[in-house]
Amino acid sequence: MSELPYPYEAPVSQALFDRAAAVTPGGVNSPVRAFRAVGGTPRFMVSGSGPYLKDADGREYVDLVCSWGPMILGHAHPEVVAAVQEAVARGTSFGTPGEGEVALAEEMTGRVGPLEQVRLVSSGTEATMSAIRLARGFTRRSKVIKFAGCYHGHVDSLLAAAGSGVATFALPDTPGVTGAQAGDTIVLPYNDLDAVRAAFAAHPDEIACVITEASPGNMGVVPPLPGFNQGLKDLCAAGGALYISDEVMTGFRTSRAGWYGVDGVVPDLMTFGKVMGGGFPAAAFGGRADVMAHLAPAGPVYQAGTLSGNPVATAAGLAQLRLLDEAAYTKVDAVSQRIQAMVSEALTKEGVAHTVQNASNMFSVFFTDRPVRDYGDARAQESYRFTAFFHAMLANGVYLPPSSFESWFVSTAHDETALQRIADALPAAARAAAEATA
Ligand SMILES: *Cc1c(COP(=O)(O)O)cnc(C)c1O
Repeated sequence: MSELPYPYEAPVSQALFDRAAAVTPGGVNSPVRAFRAVGGTPRFMVSGSGPYLKDADGREYVDLVCSWGPMILGHAHPEVVAAVQEAVARGTSFGTPGEGEVALAEEMTGRVGPLEQVRLVSSGTEATMSAIRLARGFTRRSKVIKFAGCYHGHVDSLLAAAGSGVATFALPDTPGVTGAQAGDTIVLPYNDLDAVRAAFAAHPDEIACVITEASPGNMGVVPPLPGFNQGLKDLCAAGGALYISDEVMTGFRTSRAGWYGVDGVVPDLMTFGKVMGGGFPAAAFGGRADVMAHLAPAGPVYQAGTLSGNPVATAAGLAQLRLLDEAAYTKVDAVSQRIQAMVSEALTKEGVAHTVQNASNMFSVFFTDRPVRDYGDARAQESYRFTAFFHAMLANGVYLPPSSFESWFVSTAHDETALQRIADALPAAARAAAEATA
């Protein structure tokens, strides 16, 4: 990256990346980690502590990704680590029921009113895939409405995200997803209730469910306009469809009860992941007891998992959730607001057009001066400015998500020292953004 005006060497990470590329497609196990949107060498991390990550070259970063959300207490929180060590010592998997998974389910249902019953799985993808299957089995209908720019994991039928604009049947977004799988998915522009109304009118008695991110964070942070989620719920109720709120990112992150705790709209089904696993693979779907009763072995809709409710993962998740009281959320929200203000101030000083949007403590910085309400707005930003900004922050020890279409995440561990490091890195990054050319 010799064209970049600051030091950028990461020889040990580069050597690891070369080794990885020989045995793994693109050198990574999840595409965004490869830095393709921003270019350069992905940093191979070796350890994390509180708000910091350390890479293989021995550099330390203030982490504003937090493993894409889960690490809301920071890395290696002593009480979470102790709970995991205690669980591991008792054995790592039994393939039987265990008390830990019951306790985690009780903690979750205790926090989120509409969550009458939950089924634990191992990833957010599994959660949304299973919720869609259950909705189809329950309603005996096929079609699913989703919104462009919303991500629900790599479920075949949900990987469709046709261009914004008119209501349209989705074309598969990736090879390997058949026309039949995508053909039952209707992709609509986000925040557009009229489009949803039209889709219900065009497909009476065919729509099994509407799935939406409770407050989207996967096209950058684009909160629902006032009344949007309630409107979805009402259209579903009137049309005999289920309303599925995907809280994999927002769940236990945006409040003690997730986004439901913010807007109070009652979904039929919900999905969870990220924070609830405490950094381990744990996720869940749940909601109305009468709908969940259709799930095997209680009912006919099949769903299962060898490692579902894993004792180590549930111990980590439970320990983390129990530490997340109101005071913890107040703290994370305050840290987030400080960083949002610092970033905005630095960019304003350099005359860089930008819009900071947040959903509680989730936030992102769009390089545009217009509000971002849907995927089309998000794509209209000057992403090349983000690239320059990202690399300048990285060079100065702040690790941002390597894409301008992602939320930034903070934790209770982001203290004054960490905030000062961000403040110190910002002026040069804002200047780099200002000087960037398309
Ligand atoms: C991360 C995410 C998923 C997928 O979860 P995985 O654990 O990566 O499979 C689904 N929905 C939303 C809203 C997410 O943010």
